[in-house]
Amino acid sequence: MSIAVYPGSFDPITYGHMDIAERALKVFDELVILVSTNPKKKALFSPEERIDMITETLSKFKDRIRVCTSNNLTVRQTKALDASHIIRGLRAVTDFEYEFEMAHANRVLDRTVDSIYFMTDSKYIFLASSTVKEIAQYEGDLSQFVPTYVEQQLKQKMK
Ligand code: ADP
Repeated sequence: MSIAVYPGSFDPITYGHMDIAERALKVFDELVILVSTNPKKKALFSPEERIDMITETLSKFKDRIRVCTSNNLTVRQTKALDASHIIRGLRAVTDFEYEFEMAHANRVLDRTVDSIYFMTDSKYIFLASSTVKEIAQYEGDLSQFVPTYVEQQLKQKMK
Protein backbone atom coordinates (compact mmCIF):
# COMPACT_ATOMS: atom_id res chain seq x y z
CA MET A 1 0.00 0.00 0.00
CA SER A 2 1.38 3.42 -0.93
CA ILE A 3 1.39 5.98 1.86
CA ALA A 4 2.31 9.68 1.78
CA VAL A 5 2.40 12.29 4.51
CA TYR A 6 1.11 15.83 4.10
CA PRO A 7 2.69 18.02 6.79
CA GLY A 8 1.65 21.56 7.67
CA SER A 9 0.21 23.92 10.23
CA PHE A 10 -3.39 23.73 8.95
CA ASP A 11 -4.31 26.68 11.20
CA PRO A 12 -7.05 26.27 9.97
CA ILE A 13 -7.50 23.93 6.99
CA THR A 14 -8.64 25.78 3.82
CA TYR A 15 -9.99 24.79 0.41
CA GLY A 16 -6.37 25.09 -0.83
CA HIS A 17 -5.20 22.37 1.57
CA MET A 18 -8.23 20.22 0.78
CA ASP A 19 -7.52 20.40 -2.94
CA ILE A 20 -3.92 19.22 -2.42
CA ALA A 21 -5.08 16.34 -0.16
CA GLU A 22 -7.67 15.23 -2.69
CA ARG A 23 -5.15 15.28 -5.54
CA ALA A 24 -2.56 13.38 -3.48
CA LEU A 25 -5.17 10.68 -2.88
CA LYS A 26 -5.31 10.11 -6.64
CA VAL A 27 -1.67 9.03 -6.44
CA PHE A 28 -1.42 7.36 -3.02
CA ASP A 29 -3.64 4.82 -1.27
CA GLU A 30 -3.37 6.55 2.07
CA LEU A 31 -2.57 10.07 3.19
CA VAL A 32 -1.38 10.91 6.69
CA ILE A 33 -1.96 14.56 7.50
CA LEU A 34 0.68 15.69 9.98
CA VAL A 35 -0.38 18.67 12.01
CA SER A 36 2.65 20.58 13.19
CA THR A 37 2.74 21.45 16.88
CA ASN A 38 5.88 23.56 16.63
CA PRO A 39 5.61 25.85 19.71
CA LYS A 40 7.68 28.52 17.91
CA LYS A 41 4.83 29.00 15.41
CA LYS A 42 2.02 30.68 17.30
CA ALA A 43 -1.21 29.03 16.23
CA LEU A 44 -4.78 30.31 16.62
CA PHE A 45 -6.22 26.82 17.02
CA SER A 46 -4.93 24.06 19.30
CA PRO A 47 -3.64 20.89 17.60
CA GLU A 48 -6.84 19.09 18.74
CA GLU A 49 -9.04 21.79 17.16
CA ARG A 50 -7.06 21.66 13.92
CA ILE A 51 -7.32 17.86 13.83
CA ASP A 52 -11.07 18.09 14.42
CA MET A 53 -11.53 20.52 11.49
CA ILE A 54 -9.40 18.39 9.15
CA THR A 55 -11.27 15.22 10.11
CA GLU A 56 -14.63 16.91 9.65
CA THR A 57 -13.90 18.60 6.31
CA LEU A 58 -12.22 15.57 4.75
CA SER A 59 -14.71 13.06 6.17
CA LYS A 60 -15.59 11.71 2.73
CA PHE A 61 -12.07 10.25 2.58
CA LYS A 62 -12.14 8.95 6.14
CA ASP A 63 -11.05 5.44 5.16
CA ARG A 64 -7.94 6.72 3.41
CA ILE A 65 -6.89 9.65 5.58
CA ARG A 66 -5.27 9.64 9.00
CA VAL A 67 -4.62 12.81 10.97
CA CYS A 68 -1.78 12.96 13.52
CA THR A 69 0.22 15.61 15.32
CA SER A 70 3.90 16.02 14.63
CA ASN A 71 6.63 17.30 16.91
CA ASN A 72 9.42 15.46 15.17
CA LEU A 73 11.42 15.90 11.98
CA THR A 74 9.05 15.27 9.06
CA VAL A 75 11.39 12.77 7.38
CA ARG A 76 11.71 10.82 10.63
CA GLN A 77 7.97 10.71 11.09
CA THR A 78 7.45 9.78 7.43
CA LYS A 79 9.75 6.80 7.91
CA ALA A 80 8.08 5.80 11.19
CA LEU A 81 4.70 5.79 9.44
CA ASP A 82 6.02 3.58 6.64
CA ALA A 83 5.31 6.35 4.15
CA SER A 84 7.49 6.93 1.10
CA HIS A 85 6.73 10.53 0.14
CA ILE A 86 6.12 13.97 1.60
CA ILE A 87 3.39 16.01 -0.12
CA ARG A 88 3.48 19.79 -0.24
CA GLY A 89 1.58 22.44 -2.18
CA LEU A 90 3.13 25.26 -4.17
CA ARG A 91 1.47 28.61 -4.64
CA ALA A 92 3.95 31.35 -5.47
CA VAL A 93 7.68 31.67 -6.05
CA THR A 94 8.06 32.43 -2.34
CA ASP A 95 6.71 28.95 -1.52
CA PHE A 96 9.18 27.51 -4.01
CA GLU A 97 12.27 28.97 -2.36
CA TYR A 98 11.32 27.64 1.05
CA GLU A 99 10.25 24.25 -0.29
CA PHE A 100 13.43 23.94 -2.36
CA GLU A 101 15.54 24.32 0.81
CA MET A 102 13.36 21.93 2.80
CA ALA A 103 13.39 19.25 0.09
CA HIS A 104 17.17 19.33 -0.08
CA ALA A 105 17.58 19.27 3.68
CA ASN A 106 15.20 16.32 3.87
CA ARG A 107 17.12 14.46 1.16
CA VAL A 108 20.34 14.95 3.11
CA LEU A 109 18.65 13.61 6.25
CA ASP A 110 17.14 10.60 4.52
CA ARG A 111 17.52 9.73 0.85
CA THR A 112 14.83 7.07 0.98
CA VAL A 113 12.10 9.67 1.52
CA ASP A 114 11.21 11.90 -1.45
CA SER A 115 8.98 14.96 -1.83
CA ILE A 116 6.17 15.58 -4.29
CA TYR A 117 4.75 19.03 -5.03
CA PHE A 118 1.32 19.85 -6.34
CA MET A 119 0.83 23.18 -8.05
CA THR A 120 -2.07 25.06 -6.50
CA ASP A 121 -5.32 25.28 -8.39
CA SER A 122 -5.55 28.82 -9.78
CA LYS A 123 -8.69 29.35 -7.67
CA TYR A 124 -6.58 29.04 -4.52
CA ILE A 125 -3.41 30.79 -5.56
CA PHE A 126 -3.80 33.59 -3.00
CA LEU A 127 -5.38 31.44 -0.33
CA ALA A 128 -3.47 31.04 2.93
CA SER A 129 -4.57 30.27 6.49
CA SER A 130 -3.13 33.63 7.58
CA THR A 131 -5.38 35.49 5.11
CA VAL A 132 -8.39 33.52 6.31
CA LYS A 133 -7.65 34.46 9.94
CA GLU A 134 -7.31 38.11 9.03
CA ILE A 135 -10.63 38.13 7.18
CA ALA A 136 -12.27 36.31 10.10
CA GLN A 137 -10.99 38.94 12.51
CA TYR A 138 -12.97 41.59 10.61
CA GLU A 139 -15.98 39.31 10.14
CA GLY A 140 -15.56 39.13 6.36
CA ASP A 141 -17.15 36.53 4.09
CA LEU A 142 -15.12 33.31 4.21
CA SER A 143 -17.34 31.11 2.07
CA GLN A 144 -14.88 31.05 -0.87
CA PHE A 145 -11.97 30.03 1.35
CA VAL A 146 -13.09 27.48 3.94
CA PRO A 147 -15.99 25.05 4.42
CA THR A 148 -18.89 26.14 6.64
CA TYR A 149 -17.69 24.03 9.57
CA VAL A 150 -14.32 25.83 9.63
CA GLU A 151 -16.02 29.20 9.21
CA GLN A 152 -18.13 28.44 12.28
CA GLN A 153 -15.05 27.52 14.34
CA LEU A 154 -13.34 30.73 13.24
CA LYS A 155 -16.35 32.82 14.24
CA GLN A 156 -16.43 31.10 17.62
CA LYS A 157 -12.72 31.72 18.16
CA MET A 158 -12.93 35.41 17.22
CA LYS A 159 -15.78 36.11 19.67
P1 ADP B 1 3.26 25.33 6.72
O1 ADP B 1 3.27 26.23 7.92
O2 ADP B 1 4.01 24.05 6.93
O3 ADP B 1 3.58 25.98 5.41
P2 ADP B 1 0.51 25.40 5.90
O4 ADP B 1 -0.66 24.89 6.65
O5 ADP B 1 0.58 26.86 5.68
O6 ADP B 1 1.76 24.85 6.67
O7 ADP B 1 0.61 24.66 4.51
C1 ADP B 1 0.79 23.28 4.41
C2 ADP B 1 1.05 22.94 2.96
O8 ADP B 1 -0.08 23.24 2.18
C3 ADP B 1 2.21 23.73 2.34
O9 ADP B 1 2.90 22.90 1.43
C4 ADP B 1 1.53 24.85 1.60
O10 ADP B 1 2.28 25.32 0.51
C5 ADP B 1 0.26 24.12 1.11
N1 ADP B 1 -0.82 25.07 0.88
C6 ADP B 1 -1.38 25.94 1.74
N2 ADP B 1 -2.34 26.68 1.13
C7 ADP B 1 -2.37 26.26 -0.17
C8 ADP B 1 -3.11 26.66 -1.34
N3 ADP B 1 -4.00 27.65 -1.31
N4 ADP B 1 -2.87 26.00 -2.50
C9 ADP B 1 -1.94 25.02 -2.54
N5 ADP B 1 -1.20 24.61 -1.49
C10 ADP B 1 -1.40 25.23 -0.32
